[in-house]
Amino acid sequence: MKDCMGREIEYLRLSVTDRCNLRCVYCRDGSEQCNKEKELTVDDIDRIVKSMVSLGVNKVRLTGGEPLMRPDLEMIVKKIAQNDRIKDLCMTTNGQGLSYRAKALKEAGLMRLNISVDSLDPARYSRITRGGKIEEVIRGIDEAIACGLYPIKLNAVIVRGENDDEIDDFIALTKDRPIDVRFIELMPIGKLGQDKENRVPSSEILESRSYLKRVMPRYPSQPSEDYKVEGYQGRVGFISPMSHKFCNICNRIRLTSDGQIKPCLGNNGEVSLKNALLMGDEMLGAVIRKAIFNKPEGHNFDKKFTSDRVMSRIGG
Ligand code: SAM
Repeated sequence: MKDCMGREIEYLRLSVTDRCNLRCVYCRDGSEQCNKEKELTVDDIDRIVKSMVSLGVNKVRLTGGEPLMRPDLEMIVKKIAQNDRIKDLCMTTNGQGLSYRAKALKEAGLMRLNISVDSLDPARYSRITRGGKIEEVIRGIDEAIACGLYPIKLNAVIVRGENDDEIDDFIALTKDRPIDVRFIELMPIGKLGQDKENRVPSSEILESRSYLKRVMPRYPSQPSEDYKVEGYQGRVGFISPMSHKFCNICNRIRLTSDGQIKPCLGNNGEVSLKNALLMGDEMLGAVIRKAIFNKPEGHNFDKKFTSDRVMSRIGG
């Protein structure tokens, strides 16, 4: 369905948990409360997704926290995949433990993966993620490709002084494998992102790399601007919410793991589905419809915005 700005809302970012096995330095400071007991059940998720699909959602991305923290994730995937109108069902993960579940997730109906990896150096990766193992991510990528979960996109949030010296190493990954790498601008969500000095604008990365040639987007409303090195298999994408606002083509809404619709990442407004879930599917549909219609015109990152939730509690 269209929102009040005439944008066709087709894409749901569905957070299945706010728990995570990592504490990336820019994402969580560790003091956040996780709410396992408030997580939506498989049945709640199934009802909400069905309702959204009937309103025009055809793409779902599972996220978190870390979606792999849920032991019933395969069941959630299976339920969503049963909706014939879902054209794209993907997941964003940090890849820890992925190798053990990639096959079951593929069999349940998962189509693709985005994997967050902010450094290729084992010691640095462990420091940024506060304990993550890069070998686990690599094993997860290999297993995912082996069982048909591709194309894979690797996402790196570039933080000045943390990993901005690894940009060329990331680009090199696109040479021989069907892997796209995307550089994401740090957003003012969480403590590090509040300080402008930590952000690296996409234009700064592109300025010194004229060998990156702009290519057509794969999808009309994709958030990244894509580039390629001639002869390389994969793409290099730039997601620039800070320097290049793309709210006018935003086609997504978010659902937090505790049942709040969050129509815009850069606004604190939320609409609870908890009561509507108790009141039956008609009421649920009505509340969802209203929340989608009232999606704000644009994010507030360019104003003095402080997010009420860190990204792991929203669903990035
Ligand atoms: N655990 C999964 C993962 O690591 O991909 C999914 C959840 S994580 C919160 C989703 C994405 O949000 C990650 O790619 C992470 O790097 C990104 N993220 C978290 N905080 C951010 C911020 N302040 N600015 C930009 N991206 C952020």
